[in-house]
Amino acid sequence: MMHDFEYLNRELYCESVRVRDIASRVGTPFYLYSYKTFTEHLMKLQKAFKLIDPLICYSMKANSNLAILRSLVKKGAGLDIVSGGELFRAREAGCDPSKIVYAGVGKTDSEMEQAIRAGILLFNVESLQELDRLERVTAKLKRRINVSLRINPDVDPGTHAHITTGKAETKFGLDLDTAHLAFMRKDKYPHLSICGVHVHIGSQIVKSEPFVKAFRKVLIFLTALEREGHRVKFLNLGGGLGIIYSDERPQTAEQFAKQILPLFQGRKYKVILEPGRFIAGNSGILVTRVIDTKQTKAKHFAIVDAGMNDLIRPALYGSHHEIWPVRQTRAAKKVIYDVVGPICESGDFLAKNRKVQELKANDLIAFASAGAYGFSMASNYNARPRAAEVLVRGSRFEVVRARETNQDLVRGERIPKWV
Ligand SMILES: *Cc1c(COP(=O)(O)O)cnc(C)c1O
Repeated sequence: MMHDFEYLNRELYCESVRVRDIASRVGTPFYLYSYKTFTEHLMKLQKAFKLIDPLICYSMKANSNLAILRSLVKKGAGLDIVSGGELFRAREAGCDPSKIVYAGVGKTDSEMEQAIRAGILLFNVESLQELDRLERVTAKLKRRINVSLRINPDVDPGTHAHITTGKAETKFGLDLDTAHLAFMRKDKYPHLSICGVHVHIGSQIVKSEPFVKAFRKVLIFLTALEREGHRVKFLNLGGGLGIIYSDERPQTAEQFAKQILPLFQGRKYKVILEPGRFIAGNSGILVTRVIDTKQTKAKHFAIVDAGMNDLIRPALYGSHHEIWPVRQTRAAKKVIYDVVGPICESGDFLAKNRKVQELKANDLIAFASAGAYGFSMASNYNARPRAAEVLVRGSRFEVVRARETNQDLVRGERIPKWV
């Protein structure tokens, strides 16, 4: 089972709750998440990799709502963070710092300091300059911390350029020679224990081959390191597992594990996985209401109350999200629509040329597979309060983030006396 959204008598349900009922209680637009879907995806990975008992650090940039984080943490997940703000959220959600790993090319001194003080498990370091800086910050605090080096294996993951991170021309990680240099110079960093290797080659990767290719390169590197007497304890394999948006046929957790596990036979690393999209992606939908329909000489438009500020993936990556009418009509008539938001940009579309049942003002439709990189990428562009977030578990639902108000839009702003 890929997710827990289903039609019953032509009505869309999330687990046992009718989506239409939530809409009438909380208004639109809103993100709707299924507890069962995201916890089951975590469990699928836990089960598939049981043999090596990995630490699964959910990549919280995919969806960092506290209720989701808490649910996953309670099921044994750690968290992969990329900023001081995410560290704060991780702790608010009750994550044990010893299960937090921190990646990203631009950690500031202050962010490093917060994470060191919090006692996180590992820093994933992405350059020699960062290593020097982390040494200085750690020394100042009189601490010692674990470091993994993020390797850029120069492998093409066959995904969208904006979410490719393991090719030589991207900003991420260290090439193998530079990483080797860092291990050789370990003594330069008395406050760092360089004891791990990290690799994350991109996102929405549907096949195992790019992973296998990257991990093979990393393993050859590890063998060479160990031959020179370096001890490597942590092996972080990153995230990137693809999901179904339309007609993709991504590897399952089980198939992925079957390809990956044999590579590590006889090796004793503590393996870390950092799935984001795989856990959250199919667990969420964006529910929106049709404001108007509009027919021009060129097109049929359905104008909805969610826009690119709520879900930017179609505009940013040309992503596809399936359209699910919240109530299916009996009428057979279908129309090819561009579904667009109210924002003053032509890039403000959620779907293009999509054949769906004829829509009228006030109809509710949902965009599927919006649980990852949906709300977490939302903005206030066009002074639009961000949408509500709702979590369903069984027959219960609760607003887990209130819809923003107009007051929220101006919070923190000041008008100086001298204007
Ligand atoms: C974004 C990111 C992930 C998660 O990627 P998904 O494709 O959502 O699984 C994992 N690790 C790092 C370092 C990342 O930046």
